[in-house]
Amino acid sequence: MNIRKLSAGDIIESRCTRCRQVLNHRIVAMVAEKVVRVECNTCGGTHNYYPPPTAKEARAAKEKKEASPKTPRSASSTPRTSRKDPTEADRDEWRALRSSMAIDKAVVYDMNGKFRSNALVDHPVFGLGIVKLLIPPNKMQVLFEDGIKLLRCQ
Ligand SMILES: [Zn+2]
Repeated sequence: MNIRKLSAGDIIESRCTRCRQVLNHRIVAMVAEKVVRVECNTCGGTHNYYPPPTAKEARAAKEKKEASPKTPRSASSTPRTSRKDPTEADRDEWRALRSSMAIDKAVVYDMNGKFRSNALVDHPVFGLGIVKLLIPPNKMQVLFEDGIKLLRCQ
């Protein structure tokens, strides 16, 4: 099989059983023209000669490796976060506050009116709302059933 004439003491490539890779080995024993035992130059271990894989074998091993990637694609995809729609969160907040809203104490909305934080507002279009934030000089955020609206005030 080997065209090159080898003899004990020569350095050839062999698969090393300990290093688990193709490394240079020194021929320890030969039977006729066949290498039978080699000594690993890397780990110094002596073992039977295992010829390095042929180009065809190496290609087959590579294809096998590529066919089964180590990291599955599903693991890298980020799971969908179930984030709540901010408008929906506002509606929930409004519904939660609705029972504590005293309609008779609601101040009818007027763009020239003065409002305090947490004041109850009765708006002709949006209905009942609570002043969440006063934004000087003349704006306020009011939480209505439809969500937070920016309204004018004094
Ligand atoms: Zn070795």
